[in-house]
Formats: sequence, C-alpha cells, structure tokens
Amino acid sequence: MSIQKVLDALKRNNMNAVLVQTKEEALQHVASLLSPGQTIGAGGSVTLKECGIDALMKNGSYRFLERYDPSLSEEERKQNTLLCYDADWYFTSANAITEDGELYNVDGYGNRVSAICCGPKRVIVVAGVNKLVKNREEAILRVKRIAAPKNTVRLNKKTPCAKLGHCICDTPDFSGCSSPERICAQYVFTAYQRDPSRITVILVNESLGY
Ligand code: SF4
Repeated sequence: MSIQKVLDALKRNNMNAVLVQTKEEALQHVASLLSPGQTIGAGGSVTLKECGIDALMKNGSYRFLERYDPSLSEEERKQNTLLCYDADWYFTSANAITEDGELYNVDGYGNRVSAICCGPKRVIVVAGVNKLVKNREEAILRVKRIAAPKNTVRLNKKTPCAKLGHCICDTPDFSGCSSPERICAQYVFTAYQRDPSRITVILVNESLGY
C-alpha cells in the first residue's frame, strides 16, 4: 500500500491530507489548529485517546461537547450531540481509508457518521496507517474482522463478534446480525467533498486504534 497514493487520492477528493510520522506530531499539529474558546465535538475513538488529542480537547481551553461521560443525563447527552452539528471542529478517526481516498465509517447511533457528512465547520480525521485498505470491499472486511469485534469488546456489547472475534454476516453488508446490541447500523463512505476546506485527514505513520 503506497501512503503517497492514498494522500493524493484524498486530495483529489477535495480533502486536506497531511502525513505525520508519530502520534506526538499528530497532537502538535492538532494543537496548532485550535484557538481557545472554540467549540469541539468528537466521535468515540481509541486513536484520539492514544494520540493525546482526547486529553487536549478536554483540557479546559475549549468548549468541549462531552457525550460519553457516564455522569451526563440523557438530556445533556442529547443536547451535546445536537450542538456538535454546529461545532467549530469535529474530531474522529476512520474505520478504514481506501486507496481511492474514501473514508469508511460504521456507527451504531450514527452521530459520528452524520457529523462527518455535514454540520461541523471543520472535521479532522486522525488515523494510523493500519487503517489503510485497498478498496471498499477490504474496508468492509476490516470492520467485520478487526474494528467491530474489538469495539464491541471495549464497549461490553453482547454481540456475536464480541464472542467469536469476527462478524457472522456472510453478506456484503451487516444485515445478517440480529443482535439488539449490534453496533454496525449506519455505514458511510465519505468521498468527494464539495467544500475543500472542511475535512482534513491526518495520517499517522504508526499503528493506532482499531
Ligand atoms: S454486524 Fe453484528 S456481528 Fe457483525 S460486526 Fe457488527 S455487531 Fe458484530
């Protein structure tokens, strides 16, 4: 997999694409973009935690729209979810990035994929090179074999993949899973951007998250 090929393809899709060598560099780059007082939303992400970006967003300098703190009431969580759509920045990782410069993300609720599609003024996608795949088919397989099984274990979901370590669906999508705790519900490929300044992908030359 040529990293340069992916960067070029992302740029052809009107996304900014930046390569950094380490998670520390990714953190520095993100810190240089933000100004105190700005509003920040984020999708749940192991990558953002590993890079220290999660801690940066919550250090008190910014208005961080918390969604995951267990002390939040349902009403507060809902309100912050909606406020994310008007945030200055939205941070997320990606479940996979194809050689054609498309991002692939699968959500349970859909708050993350919907914010990537539209709403927040700027979206920053931070991803390790372990997320790079050849094409759409490989992107879906990556979720079935790596991302979803690991995330269901992390989130303590009682799904078949949490038990088996892989998805049970033999269809090209996730429709064969009838678990009420299924986390694969909204599947989105993010391709060409009409606004060339909205999405920036920071590709980190390390393995991060899953
Ligand atoms: S569809 Fe169900 S079994 Fe398949 S990866 Fe998603 S949660 Fe796991």
